Amino acid sequence: MRRDPDVDRLIYDAFAEAYVKRFADEPPDRVHVTECVDCLRKWYLYRNGVELEPDKTVILTMGQLVHREVLEALAGRGYDVEVELTWRVNDVTVVGHADALNGCEVLELKTVSRIPFQPWKHHLLQANAYAFMADVPEFVIAYVSKSSGRVRSYRYRRDEKAWSYILGRAVELSHYLRRREMPPAEPGTLCKWCSVRGKCGGWRQLAL
Ligand code: SF4
Repeated sequence: MRRDPDVDRLIYDAFAEAYVKRFADEPPDRVHVTECVDCLRKWYLYRNGVELEPDKTVILTMGQLVHREVLEALAGRGYDVEVELTWRVNDVTVVGHADALNGCEVLELKTVSRIPFQPWKHHLLQANAYAFMADVPEFVIAYVSKSSGRVRSYRYRRDEKAWSYILGRAVELSHYLRRREMPPAEPGTLCKWCSVRGKCGGWRQLAL
């Protein structure tokens, strides 16, 4: 038996491609909600083909795959699943993919290692944006723990201020992409899981 690093690399590359493919080929006037809810620099680097840190990318992609299976099971229980939503602001098209949607609410499913005490800010911003784009009054974030198997859901009424913030961020990111100018770093807790941390000096401002 011998290790085969070439196959390791092949698998890592496949995960990286699966992770960024939704965003990498988009024109600069189309911006995804996901790209607006946390550090703009990270998403700018993804769009510009920067090499991702392999292990982190595998973890993030695995989360997406597990969650897709569960969404298929939710279809037929009163929800439409993986619904594409769009919204026009200035000269930018904002794009979102709601996990599940009915006439009253958006449901976002988040697979996590550990369920947080309260929803993460970027998850709230994302689900809130989808509620506006789908024109429903409420959203639910359901956390599913990969380690304990527990599920915990949080329901909110949509918030206008948070939605305006996301629209502003979409316009901002689009302008950086058009100018091919890297946005400033926005160091925060998420730097710990950032797949482009090696290409960004900004996180060093933090004591991680
Ligand atoms: S390491 Fe932090 S500041 Fe740098 S791109 Fe990633 S999230 Fe942004």
